[in-house]
Amino acid sequence: MIKEGLLLVISGPSGTGKGTVCKELLKIEKDIKLSISATTREPRNGERNGVNYHFLEKDVFERQIEQGEFLEYAKVYDNYYGTPKKYVIDEIKEGNNVLLEIDIQGALQVKEKYPKGIFIFILPPSMNELKKRIVGRGTESEEAIQKRFGSALDEINYVKEYDYFVINDEVKEAVKKIRALIRAENCKVSENIEEIISKFKEEISC
Ligand code: 5GP
Repeated sequence: MIKEGLLLVISGPSGTGKGTVCKELLKIEKDIKLSISATTREPRNGERNGVNYHFLEKDVFERQIEQGEFLEYAKVYDNYYGTPKKYVIDEIKEGNNVLLEIDIQGALQVKEKYPKGIFIFILPPSMNELKKRIVGRGTESEEAIQKRFGSALDEINYVKEYDYFVINDEVKEAVKKIRALIRAENCKVSENIEEIISKFKEEISC
């Protein structure tokens, strides 16, 4: 029997750099598969369909909701975002580790359906630093900055729903921590008990 892969779920307020952390993690851990989400938002410059997201029309997305094709979905900033269920289930069953980079609403839905997942919350080093990062993007109005900053504060309260927190002070260090969490998860007795027992039984019977 193939051992199921791990489901890693990473969230965090905007401005924490979770996207960069995930990208760096995927560069190093080549065997982790990224789940490409579906969304109804417009592609940004340089984004490609099927690579960054599956870009869908609203009616198509809503049909897929009705057909139960999403493991989770949520409305984030007026657009739908969702995780295609089949891809994730198939990969995990094949023994591959899968990464979801999704918002908190989505992560909570996944936790209900798949509590075995590893839920990781990325935090900024400080609120000051978070504000600097949001302002530093230079793409947002003062009002939008205040809104994002306010919702970041609310979102941080959800850290209690997650298994692990990782402070993204330095991307390299944050990635190191996540890799350590994966190693630890692979050594969990509860998830490996059958494999351990059968390995040693086989050796004795040889
Ligand atoms: P962006 O539009 O900047 O790419 O993403 C906006 C937010 O949507 C981010 O917080 C991102 O983590 C979240 N997101 C991306 N894909 C999904 C998804 O499949 N499900 C949910 N619930 N959130 C997602």
